[in-house]
Amino acid sequence: MNNKMQNLRDEIILRSGVNPSKCMACGKCSATCPAYNEMEYHPHQFVSMVKSGDIEPLLASDSLYKCLTCFACVDRCPRGVEPAKLVEAVRLAAIRQQGANHLKPDMVPDMLDDDMPQQAIVSAFRKYTK
Ligand code: SF4
Ligand code: SF4
Repeated sequence: MNNKMQNLRDEIILRSGVNPSKCMACGKCSATCPAYNEMEYHPHQFVSMVKSGDIEPLLASDSLYKCLTCFACVDRCPRGVEPAKLVEAVRLAAIRQQGANHLKPDMVPDMLDDDMPQQAIVSAFRKYTK
């Protein structure tokens, strides 16, 4: 692992408050994930890949935006690892690397339709405006 990736891994771990070393690779987080079929990398893989410093594939993956932030993986984990917080921290790192917000409030009205739930807007701001 090069220095840049090591620093990024340390930052992600610090920001998330997650200790990936507690993971015992049981897979329960991924088994309960409602976005499993949509995600290229699953919650248990986020944990193991951050732990090993294999972060670049995560940064480039759409999995960051497929996660529903439902926290089912957090509830299910027998070791209190909280994979969702790791997904969130990697997503934040990706957005910061891109150096720009992807959603601004004045863009929202044009995106709305009658079927858009309010939760989707809140979730979009969580994901795209840090
Ligand atoms: S928070 Fe994300 S990774 Fe965790 S179970 Fe929900 S959708 Fe899956
Ligand atoms: S449920 Fe917890 S211990 Fe099991 S693989 Fe997921 S993060 Fe690791």
